[in-house]
Amino acid sequence: MVKKKVPPKKKGATKKKSQAPKKAQLKKAQPKRAVLTKKTVPLKKKAPLKKKVEIKKKKAVKKKPIPKERGQVTFTGQVTKIRQTEPATVVEWPRAITHIHTYGMLSPFFQGLREGRLTATRCPNERCPEKRLWIPPRAHCPDCHSEMTWEALTNPVIGTIHTFTEVVYAGAGIELSTPYWQVDVDIPGLATIPKSYLLYGKPHIGMKVRAEFRTKKPTNTVLDYYWVPAEE
Ligand SMILES: [Zn+2]
Repeated sequence: MVKKKVPPKKKGATKKKSQAPKKAQLKKAQPKRAVLTKKTVPLKKKAPLKKKVEIKKKKAVKKKPIPKERGQVTFTGQVTKIRQTEPATVVEWPRAITHIHTYGMLSPFFQGLREGRLTATRCPNERCPEKRLWIPPRAHCPDCHSEMTWEALTNPVIGTIHTFTEVVYAGAGIELSTPYWQVDVDIPGLATIPKSYLLYGKPHIGMKVRAEFRTKKPTNTVLDYYWVPAEE
């Protein structure tokens, strides 16, 4: 009886949960239910067994999808920075390109800079009115369109500052620290007055300057030659 009295409390619980089973069945089924409840516990224990089975299955399946995981798409870009979110989201999206540029027929000029000399072009046409040298070089004569010939200036190249200006706010692409002195230098024998920069010192019109070259760590651009004061 004690056993029966104790189970009735469970009956109520079972009744509330499910009224479908009949009272008689419940009374008779009490032990069964007790067994069932006991079984439900092991059922929970069985759950992990299922998981184990599933894991085993997954492990077994994993062998096949590994190539898929290796081959999955990944983000290789640079994460954008959010600049603002209101009134709209604005992100900073860095972009960089490599500009492939050929010096073409002017290549000897840049080769000369790397080797520490200024190289100019001259028109070989005897009938051409312009006999002087050109820097920046011209592949063809601006006056008669003849193909130019190359001549290297003898070092040291001493020029005279024709004019100058101080560059404080450089435009995009300028790869010199600011401020710097941009100088137009009159070089003997030239038809042109090329622009360059004064490496140090303060310029004045008529100032003698000497050409120097960035041969140790060349930039392979026109920046590889510059001027330094030649006056003491
Ligand atoms: Zn010419």
